[in-house]
Amino acid sequence: MAYEVLARKYRSRDFGEIVGQGAIATTLKNAIEMGRIHHGYLFTGTRGVGKTSMARILAKALNCHNSDGPTATPCSECESCLRIADGSDLDVVEIDAASNTGVDNIRELRSNAAFRPARSRFKVYIIDEVHMLSSGAFNALLKTLEEPPEHVKFILATTETHKVPATIQSRCQRFDFRSISPADIGEQLQSILEREGITADPIVVRRVSRAANGSMRDALSLLDQLLAYGASNLTAETIEDVLPGGHDETLAALVDAIAQHDAAKALECVDRSLISGYTPERFCESFIEYARTLMILSICGGETELIDLAGPQREQLNAQARSFDAATYVYMIGLLEETRRRVKSSSAPRPLIDAVAVRIALTESFVDVGEAIEKLDQGETPGRGQQASHSKKKVAPRESESPISTPDISSRRELPDRSVPRISVPDRNVPDRSVPVRDEPTPVAEESQDEPVKSPRRAERRVGTISAETKRKMSQHPLIRQALEQSGGTLINVQKLQAPTED
Ligand SMILES: [Zn+2]
Repeated sequence: MAYEVLARKYRSRDFGEIVGQGAIATTLKNAIEMGRIHHGYLFTGTRGVGKTSMARILAKALNCHNSDGPTATPCSECESCLRIADGSDLDVVEIDAASNTGVDNIRELRSNAAFRPARSRFKVYIIDEVHMLSSGAFNALLKTLEEPPEHVKFILATTETHKVPATIQSRCQRFDFRSISPADIGEQLQSILEREGITADPIVVRRVSRAANGSMRDALSLLDQLLAYGASNLTAETIEDVLPGGHDETLAALVDAIAQHDAAKALECVDRSLISGYTPERFCESFIEYARTLMILSICGGETELIDLAGPQREQLNAQARSFDAATYVYMIGLLEETRRRVKSSSAPRPLIDAVAVRIALTESFVDVGEAIEKLDQGETPGRGQQASHSKKKVAPRESESPISTPDISSRRELPDRSVPRISVPDRNVPDRSVPVRDEPTPVAEESQDEPVKSPRRAERRVGTISAETKRKMSQHPLIRQALEQSGGTLINVQKLQAPTED
């Protein structure tokens, strides 16, 4: 038996089965029940959101032979319902406007429309991609739309509403089909998989739902592709082969790497993103958008309607949003926007992207370093006043991290403040661990409570804890060297912090 693609096999048969367009289905059902059926409908929305399915169901509802009149619950069994479902009904004419753009096509339609339907109540014209019609064809259609014969109904569908003349739009009832939420798509996929007798890891359903970008048809095409791969049990490996990591997953991994100060992993994420086809500028834009989403979740809470996220994705991002506080996201977005502008005018944008990823990953407490130094020069405490806003991100001081940590200046002076700028490289980025660094001052806030207040001079001295040896080793790590050499950012700031000890 010939393989039937899932999108066709599981096409919705009645109003109740349409996924994600509940409001439209209800309106149409009520219109039928109350006998207020319009003669022209315009269905708009991106591809694969159920426009054609809804049009066919509406045609079935109008013409079902197992009912005395139009019915909100077509039987899906009578000759009319079955033929409409496979697109072969005499009285329900489906026209693809993309290949029938001319005025002659519409003239022909008009002359046919004059004849009564062969065996049903209504002659229904479903014109797909109606925006493709020529202006002459639109004019011809307009005349029929204005005063159609009583037995004629039009259902126009388009993905580009703005190309449909206002005169046409105003003679139709317009329904805007929404993109289908990943949660709704996931639910439908799960049900289809069960009916097909296929088991799938939850991650597979999640990935396909999100990759489909709101289109049920795209989701089912992807599922077809996965099934063609030959597995009756879809696992995370299967999907990784067929559908390499989505960009959102890459950004999520990148943010995780930043939260863990793992510069090497952050660079890998950047690399994955660029290999998958993102340009450096587009990468910045998507990262900014991602950071914005996290910032809004962090400020407004998980239930906010300011962002359009569904179910599992919302939960996942909401959990991740807690990695940093709002001020950190503001810092990140500012830095990324600056990089985006520089990338745009640079002939070698890649190092800029790598550098910004490293810079963000290595910044433990997001205080503008230049500003902090300026304040230091003026004898102020750079971390002060930012304590509250940075309190969310608790960076537990790790002893092993001390190699190039620049310790907390202000807390040594008077405040046991953990929110002071420190720049550190996780120890894994330093290839050789043999050089002892433990005897250097450890930037730990915990014990500073008990410490006597240091003099300002002492504080300055303590800033310079990046030994020449550590710096040399740092510059030996290929990933970090590559990024930092191009930077203009982190390394320079590190040197600035070190400056006071060089006298
Ligand atoms: Zn029927």
